[in-house]
Amino acid sequence: MSILSVSGATVHYDAILAVSDVSVTVPKGAIVTILGANGAGKSSLLNAVMGVVPAEGRFRFRDRDLAGLGAETRVAAGISLVPEKRELFTTMTVEDNLRLGRFRLRRAGSPEPMLREMFALFPRLQERRRQLAGTLSGGERQMLAMARALMGEPELLMLDEPSLGLAPLIVREILGTAARLRDNGTSILLVEQNARAALAIADYGYVLENGSVMLEGEPAALQADRRVIESYLGMR
Ligand code: ATP
Repeated sequence: MSILSVSGATVHYDAILAVSDVSVTVPKGAIVTILGANGAGKSSLLNAVMGVVPAEGRFRFRDRDLAGLGAETRVAAGISLVPEKRELFTTMTVEDNLRLGRFRLRRAGSPEPMLREMFALFPRLQERRRQLAGTLSGGERQMLAMARALMGEPELLMLDEPSLGLAPLIVREILGTAARLRDNGTSILLVEQNARAALAIADYGYVLENGSVMLEGEPAALQADRRVIESYLGMR
């Protein structure tokens, strides 16, 4: 069963065609990655699913048509986006950022069990729970942005370039956590420029070029594709 099904997605910014007739499916409990160079349209596609940029095409989440629904309704339905810029509340503590992530489920009772779960998942955040988010390192910020999204217990977690600007060891840690989340049932749509790292954990992948899907397939097939090797994996 698919949790997200996008068909014919198109995003324009005035005269710029950022996404053109893109179809993407995220099966339940899978990691699907969208690869592509700068400007390929990856963020625009995630933003279209989130409802923060206007888009044409069909967007279905579980069995619900998202047409006409604003971002807030989509969040309430169980979609969460961790944007590329992380967008934390920098003058608030780590813990308060996490508590705010619970907003969607504020009527669902105490945030404490989920807070404990996040600290178990990201022990560094527990050590820094009273520290202001603005003083965290890049990797810790990414962990906090992911944990804050998870506080809302989304069914579909969209990550926009979580590895951006991070050291290889931290990238491995963050993507390893994404794989564990998938193993526990969260469906993930992962946008990455780091094709090697993304394909190592993904169940399926799409390659976007100039707003269109140039290629799609299982990670093993993509890793073996000459075009992917040349353009995204580097010569070895
Ligand atoms: P990056 O990895 O650099 O973020 P991307 O694959 O995520 O790239 P997008 O950010 O979706 O690509 O951008 C796709 C195209 O749309 C680019 O040509 C970009 O300049 C353009 N674009 C993105 N956002 C806007 C905007 N708000 N207004 C105008 N053009 C935009």
